[in-house]
Amino acid sequence: MIVMKFGGTSVENAAAIERVCGIVRDRRPERPIVVVSALAGVTDQLVRLGRLALARETEACKRGWEALRGRHLAVLAELAAGAPAPPEAQALDGLLEELRQLLRGVMALRELTPRSHDALLSFGERMSPVLVRLALARGGLPAVLVDSRQVIATDERFTEAKPLLAETQRRAEEHLRPLVDAASIPVLGGFIAATVRGVPTTLGRGGSDFSASILGGALGAERIEIWTDVDGMLTADPRVCPLARRIPRISFVEAAESAYYGAKVLHQATLQPAMLKNIPVWVLNSRRWLPGPPDPRHSGTLITARPLAPRGKASPRAGMVACISSKRRIALLDIVSTRMLQAHAFMKAIFEVFAVHQCPIDMISTSEVSVSLAISALDRVPGLVDDLSRFAEVRYEGRKALVCLVGEGMRNTPGVAAAVFSALDGVNVRMISQGASEVNIGFVIEDDDLPVAVERLHRRFFADARTDVAPAPPRALGAATGAP
Ligand code: ADP
Ligand code: ASP
Ligand code: MG
Repeated sequence: MIVMKFGGTSVENAAAIERVCGIVRDRRPERPIVVVSALAGVTDQLVRLGRLALARETEACKRGWEALRGRHLAVLAELAAGAPAPPEAQALDGLLEELRQLLRGVMALRELTPRSHDALLSFGERMSPVLVRLALARGGLPAVLVDSRQVIATDERFTEAKPLLAETQRRAEEHLRPLVDAASIPVLGGFIAATVRGVPTTLGRGGSDFSASILGGALGAERIEIWTDVDGMLTADPRVCPLARRIPRISFVEAAESAYYGAKVLHQATLQPAMLKNIPVWVLNSRRWLPGPPDPRHSGTLITARPLAPRGKASPRAGMVACISSKRRIALLDIVSTRMLQAHAFMKAIFEVFAVHQCPIDMISTSEVSVSLAISALDRVPGLVDDLSRFAEVRYEGRKALVCLVGEGMRNTPGVAAAVFSALDGVNVRMISQGASEVNIGFVIEDDDLPVAVERLHRRFFADARTDVAPAPPRALGAATGAP
């Protein structure tokens, strides 16, 4: 059994969904479970609708809702190819009506709590599986819709809920295993889940990857496939550095660190359930699908426990750095002790404030009387500053970027830091940190300097990497193995 997750761009319109059908058909002998994101851009639109409702912008909210409805019904009409009033139209209308009621409620109460925000964002991943299931069924595949909220159980941390793995495993065995055993193809929305009492939650933005891994882990899948719009994990964010190229193989540790430090192609927590059960994860491009099982020599990125090829075989990677991750929209907080508290109490007080605000710290450096922190949760800054100001002087600077080089080959390799900072000559580096695991070196710079910094590092660390990856052969449609 395998789990296949298709991201927003992989299901953005009818043509993309038809492509998904081809890929799933190719994998049918491997008994796939299909997890899908909302159609590209829909979650952002739902966020916007929430804001409009809160501001009682009735007309704009109505237009936004109509656009969402129009888009889903247009995709449905194309996929249904003229079939009169398919039951899916009713299902979508039911969901859209529910969404409208929710927006009305937000307007009436002028309140959008994290809990109702999760309910609002759930609609994207509740509508897309309806469309994908229909397309699979019309293509002759025995696809069955499953409500993720009945399978993935989480805690009550709305907007960033954490899965309850034992309960989820029990539910996956109950709701999914029998379908897979009966050769059906379950189709679920990613990103969404529910508390044990059934209140809808979400796993954090980009969380559909995490859903796939949670389900793969729960059922002991042979493989988890993350289908997206790039050729795999790349050596850098392609939006920042055009030199970025595909990484054929990378370890769990490297990929997890890269995701944590901004490689958006994987949700931060994606690799945890896979690592726990040692399940290989693939990142693949749905626009360049190749029939047959994936092969890192030709396409995608294979993520496993081992970073390098088996002994005696050619290393798939020449350099010691696997990936240069980066995060924009970072804020720097400098917290200087007023010496009201002793050094150890000062640290404790700072961390307590961050815990109360549930604010993750991206990077930290300390001295006796001051602590500098890089954070990306910008919405928490005003509250943090208020609370920290009770016992410290706080300075805040925005428009920073964080860069992190990740690679297991950096461990025990002398001179890495020197090579990094000589490549960055002339760039103003504000904070430096090396993780205890020695598989990363990170630093904070001005946001404007990001493209040039990443390009220089890329030239320095990937210039002599072997191009031992054969170019992908052209996609051979119809050559799929085991088609039904
Ligand atoms: P999906 O909708 O399929 O989940 P995402 O937009 O969440 O896709 O993630 C894919 C995007 O992540 C890519 O289009 C790319 O711009 C961005 N990205 C950032 N860093 C990396 C990286 N190191 N490797 C690959 N993609 C990356
Ligand atoms: N649709 C959700 C988001 O945009 C989840 C995902 O795509 O993974 O954040
Ligand atoms: Mg994503």
